[in-house]
Formats: sequence, structure tokens, C-alpha cells
Amino acid sequence: MKFETLVIHAGVHPDPSTGAIMTPIFQTSTYVQDGPGNHKGYEYARTQNPTRTVLQENIAALENGTIACSFGSGLAAMDAIIKILKSGDEVIASNDMYGGSFRLLDRIFKDFGISTKLIPMQDPELVKKTISENTKLIWIETPTNPLLNIVDIEAVCNIAHQKNIIVCVDNTFASPYLQKPLDLGADLVMHSATKYLGGHSDVVHGIVVTKNKDLGERLRFIQNASGAVPGPMDCFLILRGIKTLHIRVQRACENAMKIAEFLSTHPHVNRVLYPGFPSHPGHELAKKQMKMFGGMLSFDLKDESIEAANKVLAGTKLFTCAESLGGVESLIGHPASMTHASLPREERMKSGLTDSLMRLSVGIENVDDLIEDLRQALG
Ligand SMILES: *Cc1c(COP(=O)(O)O)cnc(C)c1O
Repeated sequence: MKFETLVIHAGVHPDPSTGAIMTPIFQTSTYVQDGPGNHKGYEYARTQNPTRTVLQENIAALENGTIACSFGSGLAAMDAIIKILKSGDEVIASNDMYGGSFRLLDRIFKDFGISTKLIPMQDPELVKKTISENTKLIWIETPTNPLLNIVDIEAVCNIAHQKNIIVCVDNTFASPYLQKPLDLGADLVMHSATKYLGGHSDVVHGIVVTKNKDLGERLRFIQNASGAVPGPMDCFLILRGIKTLHIRVQRACENAMKIAEFLSTHPHVNRVLYPGFPSHPGHELAKKQMKMFGGMLSFDLKDESIEAANKVLAGTKLFTCAESLGGVESLIGHPASMTHASLPREERMKSGLTDSLMRLSVGIENVDDLIEDLRQALG
């Protein structure tokens, strides 16, 4: 079955007891047993919940995996993945990874003896040079936030697998509609389902998918043993969001391309970072490993001050200023004072994250309205 059919049908079956066409929200903590150990496959809701089972089967199909585990947030999913490792193990990750992912590694797992090396992962050769005998996991994020760097998933997987290192791709920005890391060789793919999978900015959720049986069983064990599971209502909302994933992402990509083109001709705009532009350093790679170029873009101003950015941020009416991304509504953010405020200015500037840089999560509104909103705010 094709992707557009899978989003609607994979794992989803009418409820056998009522015929309800949509997956019910099984709001229960436990399940009746006819006698001790004599049950219908469900014993206790930390371990299994039927709404969650349907969601997990659905996302596993979308990522061309076999096992999916869902969690209460994207970071809870990452937390479960890092728990596959042991004290003394080392992680290699991108130096511009999502701030919360870095905080989890640096402020929690470092104290448990799991260390992290950060590198610009656009250069696979640098990955090779950074690997040590303790390296057990390579954490890829692509495209990255907010600089939209593109990492070569296949090249990094080839390097990692020569040394039996696990590769996980945070696929939040692309969504499985645009990019399928397991097909490119990754062992694990992780999502903040809060973003494009949910798609409506109304639920926090995380997911991991694999087709490796051993890793899948280990994650299932951790999901139950550590217990960071989502509630059934949240699983229902993500399932509902996924049904329109392909249409939402496609429209967001089309809108983002037009907005990027508008911004690149505006006299106040300095740089537009969008992988859809042939001038973007990751353009050819993005063309190879993604279906379209995504709904995220960043730009900065010729006037490089924070004050100039603040004027734009205060001036937009449709693009509302908020953290998060991937919803139907367009958002604008200012990484230097929001998501990346914890980075020292010098470090930020080194990677190109200037004071006036703004990040857009382009929604699915009418693109002319969105462009008009940016035009009046930049004016
Ligand atoms: C939001 C986000 C996360 C964290 O997910 P939560 O659902 O907020 O816990 C991880 N990675 C990326 C790329 C994100 O955008």
C-alpha cells in the first residue's frame, strides 16, 4: 500500500465489539482476566493499551519499520533510547541538535556515565574521525533546527555500521512523508509526534520505530519498565492527526517554498536558509533523501540587531510567536532569545545563528495571506 493509504488504514480496524469505525479511546488502567493469566493480550495499561497499539502499528508502517513504541513526549522517547546504552558508552550528536535533546544528554545522562561528543554532522568524514571504541550511538537530526543543515543519513549509517554502532535519526522536522531513515540504513527513527505527526498543536507525544527485532524488544521492555507511556486520549489525537499528514506536509512545503522565494527578494532580508534553494549547501542531498524540502525555514535581516528582529516578531499577525512547529498554523520564533538562549552568543554566531535570525514553521493557510503578513511586518 502507498503512504497516502497507510496513514488512514495501517493498523486501524473497526472495533469488533461495536463496529465503531474509528479507534476507541480505551480509557482504562486494567483489563478483566477470566482466571489468573487468562486474558485477551491486555493485562495492565502501562504495558499495553489498545488505542496505543493501533497508533504504534500505524506509525511502524509509515516508517517501513516493524516495531514502534510510543511515549508521553518526544524527549521521553529519546530517554528510552539512551537507556539502551550503559555507563561508559559514548554518543555522537550534531552540534546544532534540538536544545532539549542536548539537555537530556548533558544534564541527565552525563551523570550516569554516558558522555556525548558534538560535531557538525554535515561532514560524514568528521563522524568517522570522532568515533572511539566507546561510541555506541550516533544521533542524527536532519534537517537541523534552526539552520536547516542536511546530514547524509546513508553515509553516516555506512560508517557507523562498520563499527557496530547504532544510528538513530530524529525525524521530527521531515516526518515520514518526506524522509524514511530506516530505508536509508538507520536502526532507529524517533519523532516528537507533538509536531507534524499530531499536526494540530494540541498534544505532546513521542515515538520510536525500528525493524531490528532485538532493539525493538529492548525498547518495548524499557517502555514498560520505565513507564513513560502516553495516555489513550493522546494516542487517539496523534492517530487522528496522522490521517491528514501527507496533505498537511505537502501544503506546508509548497507554502514554504513560495515564502522562501518572497523573502529572498525582500530588500531588508539578508539570508534565507531553505534546503529547497539550489544555493543551499545541503540542496542536492535533500533532493536525494527527502521527497520535498519541508515546511521550516529561517532568515535573518540586513540590520543584524535583536531590535530589528523584535520589530518583525511584533509586527506579524498570522505568524504568531511561539515555540514548537509542525502545526496547521504558521509560527515565527526567534532562536537567539527563545530555543537557543542557553547557548553563549559566541557559540551561536560561530554556527551562523545570528541575533536577527528568525525561524518560520509554515502552516497550511493561504500562502498569499502569509506572504502579505510578512511583507507588512518587514515594512
Ligand atoms: C520538539 C522536539 C523534540 C522534543 O519533543 P517533545 O515532544 O517536545 O518532548 C525533539 N526533537 C526535535 C527536533 C523537536 O523539534
